[in-house]
Amino acid sequence: MFEVSRRDLVLAGLGAGLVFGVKGPVSFIGAAHAQRAANSLKYKVGDIEVFSLHEGEVERVVDAAYVKNVAVEDVKKALAASGIGPDKFANPFTPTAIRSGGKVVLFDAGFGANGAPTVGKMADNMKAAGLDPTTVATVVISHFHPDHISGLWIKETSEQVYPNAQILMPEVEYKFWTDPALVEKVPEANRPFVRRIQSTFPTWKNITQYNDGAEVAPGVRAIATPGHTVGHTSFLVASGGQQLFIQSDVTGIHQLFVRNPGWFSMFDADGPKAEATRRAFFDRVIAEKGMIAGYHFGFPNVGTLSKDGSGYAFEAVKA
Ligand SMILES: [Zn+2]
Repeated sequence: MFEVSRRDLVLAGLGAGLVFGVKGPVSFIGAAHAQRAANSLKYKVGDIEVFSLHEGEVERVVDAAYVKNVAVEDVKKALAASGIGPDKFANPFTPTAIRSGGKVVLFDAGFGANGAPTVGKMADNMKAAGLDPTTVATVVISHFHPDHISGLWIKETSEQVYPNAQILMPEVEYKFWTDPALVEKVPEANRPFVRRIQSTFPTWKNITQYNDGAEVAPGVRAIATPGHTVGHTSFLVASGGQQLFIQSDVTGIHQLFVRNPGWFSMFDADGPKAEATRRAFFDRVIAEKGMIAGYHFGFPNVGTLSKDGSGYAFEAVKA
């Protein structure tokens, strides 16, 4: 962990000022407390402390299946143009946490111990950032893909990792994944995951379902952003006139899917709906002069958006 230099903070502030006018959307914690470890980043939205927490990454091989509606050569070209890939790249996972009124709220749970050896780093990175995972008061889930919910389960027993926390889940998503008929509808390889959901979540008394617009934590509202999954949800953190949009998986890596909102990744359940959601959501982020944090944006995973031709461009903060 190292201190961000005052110069870096000034530059970050200047950049935000240029884009957003005098009152920037996000202020980084004062120089004495600003921290960007290799694997965590701490900043502020009004009075709310925000933490980007690196969970790890998994190597993704770029094949014809990865982007469903685009030739693989074009995908590789786009990766090369942004300096990653082109044949494979490290897909990053970055949950966000906030501390507001002394309470720690975690947005998505990562893989925990249920993924590849290159993931499961979030708990250690929480500790390094000064957050005790055992004190998490609320876990807010965006959608039910394995990289977002597996960290709720202890690997060996499927018991709860956060038994003392309130766990908030989108109602639409919950209904879809807990439908007994779903097991037979998904490919064989995905059935153990669906069965694990169905054999645990309905028995967990600390789960509360929420809907579009719900206040999931003080100063944080849910925004339904369907398409990636049927009940996929993003979040708006607002305090002191500043706004941070936690996009969850409105897109995967920004180098491909923020640039090209019409590209449907293999993980988008409904491509056209996901695209419509992306355009509406990104237009809102830009119109409201908010910052945006992406689960798969890499580090730092928070920054600003701008319109760029028929797509958008993400610029990470320079902290
Ligand atoms: Zn994801």
